[in-house]
Amino acid sequence: MNQNEISEWINKLPLLQQIIEKDEILWVNPLNGHSARGIEQSGISVADVKDASDRLKRFASYIQTVFPETKQADGIIESPLTEIPEMKTALANKYATDIPGTLLLKQDNALPISGSIKARGGIYEVLKHAETLAVQHGLITPEDDYARFADPEFRNLFAKHKIAVGSTGNLGLSIGIMSAKLGFNVTVHMSADAKQWKKDLLREKGVTVVEYADDYSKAVEEGRRQAEADPLCHFVDDENSLDLFLGYAVAGERLAAQLKQQGRAVDNDHPLFVYLPCGVGGGPGGVAFGLKLQFGDNVHCFFAEPTKAPCMTIGMMTGLHDKVSVTDFGLDNHTAADGLAVGTPSAFVGKKMEPLLAGCHTISDDTMFELLTMIADTEDIRLEPSALAGMTGPVQTIRNEVPMANSSSVTHLVWATGGGMVPETEMDIYYGIGRK
Ligand SMILES: *Cc1c(COP(=O)(O)O)cnc(C)c1O
Repeated sequence: MNQNEISEWINKLPLLQQIIEKDEILWVNPLNGHSARGIEQSGISVADVKDASDRLKRFASYIQTVFPETKQADGIIESPLTEIPEMKTALANKYATDIPGTLLLKQDNALPISGSIKARGGIYEVLKHAETLAVQHGLITPEDDYARFADPEFRNLFAKHKIAVGSTGNLGLSIGIMSAKLGFNVTVHMSADAKQWKKDLLREKGVTVVEYADDYSKAVEEGRRQAEADPLCHFVDDENSLDLFLGYAVAGERLAAQLKQQGRAVDNDHPLFVYLPCGVGGGPGGVAFGLKLQFGDNVHCFFAEPTKAPCMTIGMMTGLHDKVSVTDFGLDNHTAADGLAVGTPSAFVGKKMEPLLAGCHTISDDTMFELLTMIADTEDIRLEPSALAGMTGPVQTIRNEVPMANSSSVTHLVWATGGGMVPETEMDIYYGIGRK
């Protein structure tokens, strides 16, 4: 984008000037409309999400066989929904803003197997691929007990097949761990600056880790190129995968059941505000879509992004989606929230969210660290920086007078997207940064 075009965009959308200055902003989506219409336009139906949910139920007997930590939940990979009143008080004090209603934390940091939101979409996509192959080869039908996926003939079949993904972070962990467990030949393409502990952990589980001197997008590109040349290889495409999206969307019915079980109403008089950390968009987009299917116009979904990498915010504001990068607006995309360090959003997700998303807000790295330490101190919950991105959401919506955000019957839900796999020594460093 040239300087003229940039000036024109700023004239048209003055909020872009604040984004360029790395202010923490809230953008309200003017295209947000009737949920039912938005869902219809998406081309994804209730039946599609139910199909994904049913598939995860079929796999539950296998999951609890090979991941004993999921036994208690009968092999369903789900996370706790926790009220965080102490954190609510601390937040209200820090920002000198009343926060009426209830503040909840969806603890995807505590998801079993891979400790982040990627244990939803990533694991689902691998399981679906495994099922497709097993059915094709006559090893199983959907009526059978899927615990058999642990049997040698399944592993022998999968050993002849490959799965590849480009990821420096949690997607690589989730795809790598699940694929290796099933017996696939799995490769995670990473940039050399990816954290050492992630590479070590994956190699320990039998995953091939390929490192690239170039940046992350080169790693993804190279991974994709190699995978496309090999008919036995399935490439997990973070930007365009419908299966990932559907795996995430199952969260909607799960959260609805949890809210109901806790006696928390979501209706006309009890709106639900949800704040979802956003990188390329698949995770928060899929979850938001699943929530829209459950709660329609009574749920208000906001994406949360770092001030240095607000790719979905800029993509949706301008409507340019993947045709615009944060670097076009002078932002460098360097953020400690590594799950959110994305320069160009998924157009697949952005277009689906256009009529469904309430808005986006941004948060600086310093604020994320400060809140990371605050929630450790107040609630004894340890999260990775990305998982805090949504935590200023309630303050932002209240201060910007988003209708109903400060009603006494509102539920604010912050989606804590990860942290469960971060080694304690690393966590201590994060905590220390926030202390200062
Ligand atoms: C991947 C990730 C996100 C965002 O998901 P996208 O699909 O990239 O938008 C948020 N938080 C954490 C911890 C993640 O790993």
